[in-house]
Amino acid sequence: MNYSIIINGQEVGQDLEQLDVTNPATGDLVGTVPKGGKAEARQATDAAFEAFKTWSKLSAYERSEKLMAWSTLIDEHADEIGELMTREQGKPFEEAKGEVVYANSFFKWYAEEGKRIYGEMIPATVANKRIFVHKQPVGVVAAITPWNFPAAMITRKVGPAIASGCTVVIKPANLTPLTAIRMVQLAKEAGIPDGVVNVVTGDSKEIGQEWLQDMRVRKLTFTGSTEVGKELMKGSAKTVKKVSLELGGHAPAIVMDDANFDKAVEQVIAAKYRNAGQTCVCINRLYVHEKIADKFAQAIAEKSKELKVGNGLEEGVKIGPLINEDAVEKVKKHVQDAKDKGANVLTGGESKEGLFYQPTVLMNATDDMLCMNDETFGPLLPIATFKTVDEAIERANDTDFGLAAYVYTSSINTGIYIAEQLEYGIVGLNDGVPSSAQAPFGGFKQSGIGREGGHYGMDEFLEVKYISLDLA
Ligand code: ADP
Repeated sequence: MNYSIIINGQEVGQDLEQLDVTNPATGDLVGTVPKGGKAEARQATDAAFEAFKTWSKLSAYERSEKLMAWSTLIDEHADEIGELMTREQGKPFEEAKGEVVYANSFFKWYAEEGKRIYGEMIPATVANKRIFVHKQPVGVVAAITPWNFPAAMITRKVGPAIASGCTVVIKPANLTPLTAIRMVQLAKEAGIPDGVVNVVTGDSKEIGQEWLQDMRVRKLTFTGSTEVGKELMKGSAKTVKKVSLELGGHAPAIVMDDANFDKAVEQVIAAKYRNAGQTCVCINRLYVHEKIADKFAQAIAEKSKELKVGNGLEEGVKIGPLINEDAVEKVKKHVQDAKDKGANVLTGGESKEGLFYQPTVLMNATDDMLCMNDETFGPLLPIATFKTVDEAIERANDTDFGLAAYVYTSSINTGIYIAEQLEYGIVGLNDGVPSSAQAPFGGFKQSGIGREGGHYGMDEFLEVKYISLDLA
């Protein structure tokens, strides 16, 4: 199946060199996309710039209706999009369908929130003056997205952008561009005007550079690695774009001895193994109070062992393949390093044929191990023990990252005490799945800038205009 670049509502790029998109579970070809570059990136900006002139002038209610129509079509195609996602990305079909629902929740929420972009009137110093504050869409938005959430990373950006009146050029990850293209095809069917949402596949650097240097692109929103995020932030300085960055994490989870044991086990499993451990909020290191550590680790190992690894389209599979060979190599390296430094393997520790890796639990993890510092992005859970709350907090904070952290305790006082000390943008307090459309998602430190979700996520696409009226 040949997928296209979509610019100004037209499917283009069939005449260009084509890039293969393969299924990480089988190695089979899923589809091809054009290898676009500078020219296609420029054309997409032209279209978005032109469309902005009319889209930004519609009422919020008119934009809301169109966004809702798009979201209805996504609901109607949830099975189809979910299956396509499993085939290009690997996550189990149920999880992929769950992502489509989650992704669509951003469209639904922002379609409503677009109607609530309120301004302000501020009392002036002198009687004859009036101070009005308006919020206006920033303009053309470039959205660059990763492979781990092929649908949700698009909607989290595109939802608030177009609800606020911005227009968008998207560059999805080359490993998983098909879900994005399929969704943008539905935008046209839903009546979103041509040029409001454009998608360009191909040479990431060339496309990125073109958008960075173009003054008409007023906002960059990126999710991906910290390394690339820093480059894009630097590049955005040339034209002083507004930037939002959702970058890497290294999520700790702290389990206190008074935690609800079974619930904590269940939640740690959920927060660790989602997308085979390939999310930036997956637990990377688990600190368990020494009083319950052995029992807790055994329970986690047993549950981990039960998770079926395989092709995400097969019934009952909970852990799909990793995205590529490099991802498998990274997990292997982290496991070997931990073993060399004294960790015990409670379960797993082996790769399987292809890109599959068994859920792996390590005991006696120490802070000098690679897996305790570098994001593994795979189904590996190292467990360390601690004696005091303050020790756990200090170790949890000892990282350059600050995206998500998790705390399990039955004491609300202890929970709030820990949550308040943690230098993280998101804290799951007895909650392993804290992401939702209405809440601000984003990181401290090198995990990023800005927030996605909620009214915070809308502000990222708005400029503040102050109008000073002198009635005298
Ligand atoms: P991940 O490994 O999560 O995909 P990356 O940061 O490598 O993280 O990629 C995230 C997105 O950024 C992808 O769409 C990728 O193609 C794109 N990308 C990578 N390098 C660049 C670059 N130099 N300029 C613009 N986009 C880039």
